[in-house]
Amino acid sequence: MISTAPDRNKGGERSRDVWSYISPSRLNTWLKCPVAFKLRYIDGIRSPTTPSLFLGKVVHAGLECFYRHRQVGMHLDSGDVIQRLEDCWEALLSEDCMTFVSTDDEDKLKQQAAGLVHAYLDQLGDEPVPAAVETTLQEPLVDPFTAEDLGIPLLGVVDLIVPGDSSSVVVDFKTSGRSGPPCEKVHEVQLSAYSYLYRATTQQAESGLQIRSLIKTKTPKIEYREYPARTESQLRRFFQIVRAYLDDLDRGRFLHRPGFGCTMCEFNDGTCDES
Ligand code: SF4
Repeated sequence: MISTAPDRNKGGERSRDVWSYISPSRLNTWLKCPVAFKLRYIDGIRSPTTPSLFLGKVVHAGLECFYRHRQVGMHLDSGDVIQRLEDCWEALLSEDCMTFVSTDDEDKLKQQAAGLVHAYLDQLGDEPVPAAVETTLQEPLVDPFTAEDLGIPLLGVVDLIVPGDSSSVVVDFKTSGRSGPPCEKVHEVQLSAYSYLYRATTQQAESGLQIRSLIKTKTPKIEYREYPARTESQLRRFFQIVRAYLDDLDRGRFLHRPGFGCTMCEFNDGTCDES
């Protein structure tokens, strides 16, 4: 069994103190645009949860419930999981201060979540009992190529660790609007971060990594993307990114990075121009 840090909070970050830890979401936000990173994690400006983000959270909660029961030898079918989501619906809403324009919108989202959970469990084949479920891993960042301790931990919440013959597969769930060809680069920071955390925690390399996408099409689809264990050059690149990020933090230097990403940026309402 993988031992874990006591706290967890994947959707939101636990603290505005950017020096307390590095996470894949912090790194990815900084890579996308340093100003967006500063507005969110240093200035503490958070946008309300969108229906799409909330749907992801509900689906994650459902799969977590399913796998936690598996760990104690109980099998839930999709009806059981969906009923449990229904039972904790109000709590999920209040955790995120989530509101809907109409009860119709709320019902639609509930049905979408149920459809995705149902499709996932329907397609799930035989799989060993997970070694860890929704687990917070935190490890000091020590550059494996120079042995330098960077003085800050890496923290990540891993959805699932599935044991294999010699080592384990690290799995992440995503909800997505459409299916697409595997593009490893999109997930590189997250995959490398999870690989580093897994290796630092267990003292062995992962046997592979997986992203299981729950696609929100009219008829929900489930796609598994498999990625091999991280290579030396991928981990080297990860540490180069971490060092560049820490340099920016040290200098308090956050450059605007205007581009395609601005169309989906929560700060493109003028907030970014004022910073
Ligand atoms: S709108 Fe563009 S430049 Fe401004 S914070 Fe967002 S991504 Fe950065």
